[in-house]
Amino acid sequence: MIASADSAPLPSETDLLVIGAGAGGLATALAASVLGLRVTLCEKTDTVGGTAATSAGTLWIPGNRISHAAGYRDSVAAARQYLDHLIGPDDPHGRREAFLQTANEAVDFFAQHTAVQFMPCGRHPDYLTHPGAAVDGRAIIPQPFDGRVLGRGFARVRPPIPEFMVLGGMMVGKADIAPLVHRFASWAAFAHATRLFIRYLSDRLRYPRGTRLVMGNALVARLYHSLRQRQVAVHWHTRLVHLQHDAGRVSGATVQQGSTRHTIRARLGVVVATGGLGHNAAWRQRALPAPVAMQSLAAPGNTGDGVEALVALGAHVDAASQAPGAFWTPVSRLQRADGRVGWYPHLSLDRAKPGLIAVNANGQRFVNEADSYHDFVQGMYQPQANGQPSIAAYLLVESRFVTRYGLGAIHPGTRRLQPWVDAGYVLMQPTVEALARAAGIDPAGLLATLAQYNRDARAGTDTQWGKGSTALNVFNGDPDHPGPNPCLAPIEQGPFVALRVWPADIGTSAGAQTNANGEVLNALGTPIGGVYAVGSDMASVMQGTYPGPGTTLGPALTFGYRIARHAAQQA
Ligand SMILES: Cc1cc2nc3c(=O)[nH]c(=O)nc-3n(C[C@H](O)[C@H](O)[C@H](O)COP(=O)(O)OP(=O)(O)OC[C@H]3O[C@@H](n4cnc5c(N)ncnc54)[C@H](O)[C@@H]3O)c2cc1C
Repeated sequence: MIASADSAPLPSETDLLVIGAGAGGLATALAASVLGLRVTLCEKTDTVGGTAATSAGTLWIPGNRISHAAGYRDSVAAARQYLDHLIGPDDPHGRREAFLQTANEAVDFFAQHTAVQFMPCGRHPDYLTHPGAAVDGRAIIPQPFDGRVLGRGFARVRPPIPEFMVLGGMMVGKADIAPLVHRFASWAAFAHATRLFIRYLSDRLRYPRGTRLVMGNALVARLYHSLRQRQVAVHWHTRLVHLQHDAGRVSGATVQQGSTRHTIRARLGVVVATGGLGHNAAWRQRALPAPVAMQSLAAPGNTGDGVEALVALGAHVDAASQAPGAFWTPVSRLQRADGRVGWYPHLSLDRAKPGLIAVNANGQRFVNEADSYHDFVQGMYQPQANGQPSIAAYLLVESRFVTRYGLGAIHPGTRRLQPWVDAGYVLMQPTVEALARAAGIDPAGLLATLAQYNRDARAGTDTQWGKGSTALNVFNGDPDHPGPNPCLAPIEQGPFVALRVWPADIGTSAGAQTNANGEVLNALGTPIGGVYAVGSDMASVMQGTYPGPGTTLGPALTFGYRIARHAAQQA
């Protein structure tokens, strides 16, 4: 049954009013409740989780104690060195240092007082190779969560994107993939896969999808469950209209629930956590590089309401310091069974594997394909300026690559690719020339690229773009590949397959400028007063860079905790 707290009427006054029930909003509301504040949490849609629910759920927490306890040795000092190299010494308002100093404490706080429990990722390299970069021990993930604990409230957790589930509704974490694909390879793999299947089958007798939640869904469900345990209501279909400003500070907000508007006074402040500008078309045109990426994988409700309400009060949004303004991923387009169009994010499962290159219309490579999703798209944008357009681009592989590793939405183990060709997801041709013609790629350019790449693949060194040269590349490559490089294999045996990819964002980095406590600042750098921003509504503490796994969720939970603590200190 949905807890009574879920259907509570809106109060006219509260201590802390939190707008948006994604990662940032849920975490702030939960921390504030633990610290004894009366919290009111408003959500525009009828589910919690926003983008976070569809995310991988990884948090970047330098020197975290969870990984230390498991034997890993990362430190805050090393992360500080890494960020100094990556971003430079400038740390406006001490936010980066605040993040470094508090991230561990925030995770401990949630683990101690709530059901938001984490576990180490173990090996998960940072995305760039500056001094201080970690190869393990810096990233954590939520422990899997049993959605059945929520009862009917399970339906309130926004589902992951369909392509991240198998059999129409079973969530699969990174650690589940190998045992599922190679389930007959060992007794342990078989037992693991069988346990997952049996649990899923029994779930489907009662639930619309599997209840074993992992990744971002586990994070969100854990936050939501903890709020329910504390009787903190989520007010559904309740969206921010504008912030109330009187006597020199924000005193509350007007929200709209259905067709009715309510004004809620917030004694200690309003927290704007509406998930950033991903679906704000005007902002995209204004701030993102050309050609403007058409897709955002942010939750559809993230239309920039929070940032716009803050700007109306004089909040400072410095897009230039957050260039490119968004966190990127390449996506491929697919037609879902229900007729809707889906965008598959190529995060880490296919690009680094041996026997895949990305080429533009000239048939030329333009990036290290095994670099992070963010850097891959940066690599799509860079050649635009010098007459080598790489948007859209093609991922190119042999068909046996797809069977072994999968490609985008096509799962590993898939032998019959023709249905994917018929559905228009991939192109497949017996020769490179035929594939190039079908894709509109220059055949001569592509043949020359492949000749060079195949020579390099055999030698084990990608002389052009360095695929397979970094810890991250190797981590996402194939450890069982006979070598010499786990990310390189010749592409020479047809049929050949091409998949078109475009840039998309997984969220935006250009939000409202804040100080280290999340208080929103005006153009003079002074707090507006009574209003905080968190998650993507807050200008990213990474200043447009993407250092490693968990770059947004780590800061979202950390600043959620800091905001709650700051508000509680005002009480
Ligand atoms: C495929 C994918 C994988 C990702 N993996 C990771 C990862 O592993 N680690 C990581 O750090 N980041 C990851 N991200 C990014 C991460 O999910 C987002 O940065 C993060 O969820 C942003 O948190 P948020 O609270 O700002 O927004 P969201 O989580 O999107 O939540 C915003 C909420 O606000 C609500 N809202 C919007 N407008 C209003 C309004 N006017 N009134 C009330 N409510 C409103 C929305 O409906 C939504 O529920 C991933 C993203 C994607 C797409």
